[in-house]
Amino acid sequence: MTGGEIVKVNGTLVNYYFHCKRQCYLFGNRLNLEDNSEEVKIGKAIHEQKAQESKNTEIAIENIRLDKLSGEYLTEIKKSDADVEASKWQLIYYLSVLKSKGIIRKGRLEFAEKNKKDSKVLYVELTEETEKQLQAYLQEIEELLEWDKIPECLNKQKCKKCAYYEYCYI
Ligand code: SF4
Repeated sequence: MTGGEIVKVNGTLVNYYFHCKRQCYLFGNRLNLEDNSEEVKIGKAIHEQKAQESKNTEIAIENIRLDKLSGEYLTEIKKSDADVEASKWQLIYYLSVLKSKGIIRKGRLEFAEKNKKDSKVLYVELTEETEKQLQAYLQEIEELLEWDKIPECLNKQKCKKCAYYEYCYI
């Protein structure tokens, strides 16, 4: 892909890398179509509501947005548990950025599904092994963003909910 400047790896890119390499590539090369996506709007609404409930405890460090940081946990709130692996590695990435700033926390993932009362919670921890694996993934992401060809479409069910659906298929 020509033109745009490549963005620095961030939590969103880590998430997209697991969701779809094409999405990661497009977003990383600044082809951002997300603002019009219904899914993204829903996510933002849940996020805003939760942020209010927790009395605006959301904080931001560098290019990452953190939903809630307590003495023990960094909590991330997701709108669905459709891609747990992607959410998990995004949170591990955040934990690692925090650690580099001397803030050691465990991770707590909360999936606030739209029509369900109870949210599902998952815990992650930064171990030597996960940190090593994360570094390998970050390297892979950087390499992917440098490709001179856009990765192929996935042709999967999850494409229907993706912000890039129209770009990929229409
Ligand atoms: S629509 Fe499918 S192939 Fe295209 S970016 Fe989204 S998940 Fe990837």
